[in-house]
Amino acid sequence: MDGGHFRVHSEEVNKATHDALERRGVTKEDIAKIVLEMQLPFNEGLTLAHCVESVESVLRKREMQHALLVGIELDELAEQGKLSQPLQQIVGSDEGLFGVDEMIGLGAVLTYGSIAVTTFGHLDKNKTGIIHKLDTKYGEHVHTFLDDLVASIAACASARIAHRTRDLEEEGRSFEDLTPEETTPETHVPGAEI
Ligand code: MG
Repeated sequence: MDGGHFRVHSEEVNKATHDALERRGVTKEDIAKIVLEMQLPFNEGLTLAHCVESVESVLRKREMQHALLVGIELDELAEQGKLSQPLQQIVGSDEGLFGVDEMIGLGAVLTYGSIAVTTFGHLDKNKTGIIHKLDTKYGEHVHTFLDDLVASIAACASARIAHRTRDLEEEGRSFEDLTPEETTPETHVPGAEI
């Protein structure tokens, strides 16, 4: 055991994750828009702010942060031509039979249960919102991993809202009834979750 001396602090991992998404041009609002589109038909009063809160909560999960750091790093190395062959060619061309990108995205949704898994499958097929933009090759950019990771975050955030909806229903409330405090992201230590 290293007694924690050689571990990277959660806050550092959290910051690196947010920096990586920003560097790759993906905002929390971009992802929240996908969540809103999927959940609005089932949730009266659901707003973009509720969906942003859900995305922020998902981004605090260590499991998701690690997946994002690995995937984005590989996209960026491929973009710079720094992977060894034949991986460079496979990731750089988003080879259809590769599948490791989907598996990393799928692995990161498992903590959110079956709704997140089926929603991830839906997004992987339909490529809603910014996922479509990322999946469409343009210029020298490589988003082989990022499109699946964004689908993964959106699927988790949607599943959270689906479960929250049931809880609210049982209290005789809906998203429309939430107070501003209940919509504000929690302010606990970043990354202090699985
Ligand atoms: Mg992909």
